[in-house]
Amino acid sequence: MTLEAGECPNGHVSYPTHPRCPECGEPQEETHDLSGQTAEVVTWTKSTATPPGVRQPNTLAIVEFDVDGEAVRALGQVTTEDVETGDEVEPVHVEELRDPEVGLKSENPESQEWGGYRWDPV
Ligand SMILES: [Zn+2]
Repeated sequence: MTLEAGECPNGHVSYPTHPRCPECGEPQEETHDLSGQTAEVVTWTKSTATPPGVRQPNTLAIVEFDVDGEAVRALGQVTTEDVETGDEVEPVHVEELRDPEVGLKSENPESQEWGGYRWDPV
């Protein structure tokens, strides 16, 4: 799973990418790799009702990237429970966001990607 935002010719940026811009409908022709950027925690929560194979507690945060002056928000797990609104985080890639041995998809773990990004406070 990549951490890329898409941009249309009118400068609207969205994450994740879409074939067409959610704001104006133009094709998103440009992408921005967010994985090397830091973001700011907008809000966060701790989920106690986690899907099978997800570690507990499951701390989730909406973070905001700045892409050429456009705010782009993304939801993801935080690497720690110690997070506050306004914290600066950086994306870290993990091979398995969930345990492939557990849950509905465990019968065919090759059928999907398990990797992705978590937010790590800077
Ligand atoms: Zn647009």
